[in-house]
Amino acid sequence: MDYLWSPWRYAYVSGATHRDVCIFCEMASDPAQDRERLVLHRGRLNLIVLNRFPYTSGHVMIAPYQHVATLADLGVETLSEMMTLARALEAALREAYRPDGYNLGMNLGRSAGAGIANHLHLHVLPRWNGDVNFMTSISDTRVLPEDLDTSYEKLAGFFRQAAAAP
Ligand SMILES: [Zn+2]
Repeated sequence: MDYLWSPWRYAYVSGATHRDVCIFCEMASDPAQDRERLVLHRGRLNLIVLNRFPYTSGHVMIAPYQHVATLADLGVETLSEMMTLARALEAALREAYRPDGYNLGMNLGRSAGAGIANHLHLHVLPRWNGDVNFMTSISDTRVLPEDLDTSYEKLAGFFRQAAAAP
């Protein structure tokens, strides 16, 4: 039940970790493929992506463009933008999902549970009253989140609107 307290540990990826290419660097590399790669938004120093293997609907991640493993390797501007994007996500998730709370978390290092240990990323997830109880009651079976296209459209729409606002 550990993952109920730290759901970002509930694994980013099965599969991607065995590949040579870092998936975050890959996502960062080509804006033309943002839709397929589930990139929701590009900041100046960080991008926001939808988790392909979500713990809940609306499970997203913020990753710097820089391929670094530790916070110590990131400049203050990047760290600051990461938190500013987390704030924007709080608003986006509120609008899209009306959650009762949020989890924000980071796993630094494989022993801490990082699926992609070499490129740090911040998980942001909406939570609802009772979602833990529900999942507990069905033990190892997880609630199937909505499909990724639906999540993508909801959240990408928020950022498109925000960008269009004066
Ligand atoms: Zn990388």
